Amino acid sequence: MSAEARAARWVRPQIRALQAYHVQDPGEAIKLDAMENPYRLPDELVPAWLDRLRRVPLNRYPDPAARALRGRLRAQLGLGTEAELIFGNGSDELIQVILLTLAGPDRVVLAPAPTFVMYRMIALFAGMRYVEVPLRPGDFALDTEAMLAALEAERPAVVFLAYPNNPTGGRWPRAEVERIVAAAPGLVVVDEAYAPFADDSLLDAVGQWDNLVVMRTFSKLGLAGLRLGYVVGPPAWIHEFDKVRLPYNINALTQASADFALEHAEVFEAQAARIRAERSRLLDALAAIPAVAPYPSETNFVLFRVPRGQGRAVFERLRAQGVLVKDLSGQAGLEDHLRVTVGTPAENQAFLKALHTALAAHPPGTG
Ligand SMILES: *Cc1c(COP(=O)(O)O)cnc(C)c1O
Repeated sequence: MSAEARAARWVRPQIRALQAYHVQDPGEAIKLDAMENPYRLPDELVPAWLDRLRRVPLNRYPDPAARALRGRLRAQLGLGTEAELIFGNGSDELIQVILLTLAGPDRVVLAPAPTFVMYRMIALFAGMRYVEVPLRPGDFALDTEAMLAALEAERPAVVFLAYPNNPTGGRWPRAEVERIVAAAPGLVVVDEAYAPFADDSLLDAVGQWDNLVVMRTFSKLGLAGLRLGYVVGPPAWIHEFDKVRLPYNINALTQASADFALEHAEVFEAQAARIRAERSRLLDALAAIPAVAPYPSETNFVLFRVPRGQGRAVFERLRAQGVLVKDLSGQAGLEDHLRVTVGTPAENQAFLKALHTALAAHPPGTG
């Protein structure tokens, strides 16, 4: 039997039907596709960081509870006894831990659409049914009535709400999110990956609801390479998740680096403030282009619409000019939409220049 045939015989059909998560090779391009912070750790901090790493005993397993990091983060977030915390190898891993904890063949995961693609992928990995409630066409507002109806009809084990949402960039009204938390029969995960760039957070509501947890990540803050995320929630939930987490999921270098980063939190806050200021300049510049319609953003990216049928072509013309953005135009509900990460002022300028050129080009096939 060939390996192909044997794999086809044994790999679960749901997995065989999936496409692997595709990451574009950036080459030499200006990389504005993945919501990375464009700023590195400042040069003057690098020696102190390396000194910290030098002392990490690589022959030993990492602290399974990440105690030093945990203590510092708890203090910075001001968590009390109502809230426990669990770390993941990126928040992606925590989505996996949560869904493996709550999975069952007839169990449902509910989320608005479009939203972060990993909710759906991991729900399928875990053998759960994934139910989507479309956002309102035109402005991608949350359809709260439809969400409440779906809660009633589907009784989901887990609801994911990205607050603010990716890939649309906006933040839904807090009161709407709270209505959903109040009505949900199971767990609600409020994903605050973009908290450094947002005007509100539900972290202060943890403990007020018995079914609310808040998920965050270090990735969008400037530490995507570390792979570190966390969930804050009532101890009863977190202790169950902790049984499913693999014991050494946060490596020793990440623990030491994240602890160092938290000691210098003001550096990352200053970078986030620069990105927010740059975001409003980018939004203004996009709004001034007649062929383009940007959406409001409380994240470090901007979603924008280009003329009908032009999404792929504009993406390709940007790439040909050395600027890589995310082409969403192939996804249902996101036809004609591209997403650009806020970069440095120079990167954003290069993007805008390339976009003007891309829009000025004749559409393919019209000569
Ligand atoms: C980027 C992103 C994440 C992934 O974060 P990692 O910690 O890098 O795994 C989670 N949720 C949303 C909504 C995101 O946009």
